[in-house]
Amino acid sequence: MSKDAYFNPKSETSSRSEIEENQSRLFRLAVHQAFENSLFYKQYFKRLGMKPEDVHSIKELQKKKFFTTKEDLRKNYPFGMLAIPRLGLAEMHATSGTTGTPTLGLHSAKDLDDWGEIAARSLVMSGLSKGDVFQITPSLGMFSGGFGFYHGGRKVGATIVPASAGFSKRQIQFMVDFGTTMFCAIVSYAFRLAEVAEDMGMDLKKQTKARKGIFGSEIWTREMKKKLANTWDMDPYDIYGFTELYGPGVGNDCRIHDGLHIWEDYFLVEVIDPKTLEPLGPEEEGELVFTTLRKEAMPLIRYRSRDISSLFDSLSCDCGRTHRRYKEITARSDDMIKVSGVNFWPSQIESVLLKEDQVGPEYRIKISKTGSSDLMIVEIESKEKILDRSKKEVLSKKLAKDLHDRLLFSPEVIVLDPNSLPRVEVGKTTRISDERKNLSMQ
Ligand SMILES: [Zn+2]
Repeated sequence: MSKDAYFNPKSETSSRSEIEENQSRLFRLAVHQAFENSLFYKQYFKRLGMKPEDVHSIKELQKKKFFTTKEDLRKNYPFGMLAIPRLGLAEMHATSGTTGTPTLGLHSAKDLDDWGEIAARSLVMSGLSKGDVFQITPSLGMFSGGFGFYHGGRKVGATIVPASAGFSKRQIQFMVDFGTTMFCAIVSYAFRLAEVAEDMGMDLKKQTKARKGIFGSEIWTREMKKKLANTWDMDPYDIYGFTELYGPGVGNDCRIHDGLHIWEDYFLVEVIDPKTLEPLGPEEEGELVFTTLRKEAMPLIRYRSRDISSLFDSLSCDCGRTHRRYKEITARSDDMIKVSGVNFWPSQIESVLLKEDQVGPEYRIKISKTGSSDLMIVEIESKEKILDRSKKEVLSKKLAKDLHDRLLFSPEVIVLDPNSLPRVEVGKTTRISDERKNLSMQ
């Protein structure tokens, strides 16, 4: 195999003019079809006094502040956003809905085929090929994660081990027995698997062949990537996607590991200022907004992702792909925390903590209120057990100082023994608990 393998070389490396012409044609078609087939969009356009003929480019929609939001999807649960006859609905997925009505991803057979295509491109970008044994550790259920890898892995022609979530000892056993060469996981679960292998008395670097991996679903910093690379002795790849837009496979980072390529023949991506809702230029940080260009069952026009990123100015990449890159996601707009008057993202804390070699990848942040002031406690585990209490003290003081230098306030840092914090076997790890939110809800 050449250094740069592509699943679909023609599309992945097509010229910029081809990409842009294709995108603008597909965009106009998508707007027409959304108007014709989706009652939601027909009414929306009518409310704004617009016809699809008025929309020549995204600019007309930007001027009208035309957006689709998570709330729109919730209000139209379950089938209000469906834009094909009910009979054509082939598969559906749902978010966990822990914060209210779940949002759905609805797919026709063609949508599933398209999802397979973009996921396959992303998997090949991450090193998957036909000879691989590919183990899927995210759940194969209503969560879109597992199925994205399944649809993509099938297209690539790899041997798929659809282990699904949980049963970590069995996961490790499968890896050994079936000779798994690549696996996909929610970021924190890749560390959990390594711990379980260690508990089983195994040296996973020697006893498994899993030297390739693709991870996503949780926001993760470059520091977390470095720890994952060391733990599994691999070059980890970052995949992006969410249920409302197919699932994993919307974007992926290449071997250069500098931003993720977004498939511009499937999505038109913009960045907006989440406060003013005005579009931002390349290299400016804001919220990612997606328009689907080929989606049949549930097309989305200017869907606000809440993910914070920026588009790259550069349109070329050393991997040979010509599709635009965006910065890896380091925050969601609703995750901003305010403590003692200081605003920050949880990922800023992660990148400070994980720079320290003596700590493991697990941490928890607890925020509460004592009297009128905010209290923040950061719990982190040392990588090895530290018997000397004074050494533990030194480490926690150092981390508190590092956090103070970055955030300009001083949280309390508690260094725990390895394996002290709760582990998640299925789904995403919740690392932040904000008791102040519970208080205000009572
Ligand atoms: Zn690239």
